[in-house]
Amino acid sequence: MIPQAQTQTQTQTQTRSIWLRQALNICMAGLIISPLASIAKPQYGYSGNVGPEQWGKLSPEYAKCSDGSEQAPVNIVSAASKVIANPLRLVTAYGPTKGDTVVNTGTTIQVNTEGKLQIGSTQYKLLQYHFHTPSEEAINGVHYAMNVHLVHQDAAGKLAVIGVNFTEGSPNSFISELWKQLPSSKGQNTISSLPSLEKVLPSKLDYYSFKGSLTTPPCSEGVSFYILKQPVTISPAQLAAFRKLYPMNARPLQPLNERVIQSSN
Ligand SMILES: [Zn+2]
Repeated sequence: MIPQAQTQTQTQTQTRSIWLRQALNICMAGLIISPLASIAKPQYGYSGNVGPEQWGKLSPEYAKCSDGSEQAPVNIVSAASKVIANPLRLVTAYGPTKGDTVVNTGTTIQVNTEGKLQIGSTQYKLLQYHFHTPSEEAINGVHYAMNVHLVHQDAAGKLAVIGVNFTEGSPNSFISELWKQLPSSKGQNTISSLPSLEKVLPSKLDYYSFKGSLTTPPCSEGVSFYILKQPVTISPAQLAAFRKLYPMNARPLQPLNERVIQSSN
């Protein structure tokens, strides 16, 4: 009983001292910046002292950005990819939406939405999609003008991302609807009804797949990527409208290490 009580007291004391230390840190930080900002996750960016090379140092929570082994994006070398004998089909069910939140996050435009995806026998819910320019993934060393990442989650919490690449050409009808509602300043949101995301998918859903990570901090691994082989088009004016907000928001390519990229055909 006594040793246990001592342990408990020690633990309480330790907890209290950690708490006090944290409170002190917050107070000291508060002298320089607002307490709210010191608690919030550190902002990251794409250049300078918050650029991709620094992400892993911005917060202990972002450590995977510098010490991960299965990071994304990657360069997909088609000749080195392994064709899967019985590839799982991507079965999407994205309807027109009401009440989507279009967010200018400070690093991209993100749409919080809903929809369904089935890969093999696993069901996923669409959580959000967001854009990068130029495309984050490269195919045979070539980046596209822009890409969208469609982020899905299954019941166990695993993430599956479908990547669609945009090449410059005819206007994209889905993008023209979405761009009408672009929040132009950082932190601004708009609530939108949008056409079905099926309109942004190419006619064929052949893909390259690999295990990767979130391409933004905290760079968590265990994310399944399905990068569609067939690009869709976006007009130069549509691309310029996005680049006016975010001229460059793509993380540099990451080492493939031991991974082998799979190909659905
Ligand atoms: Zn992304």
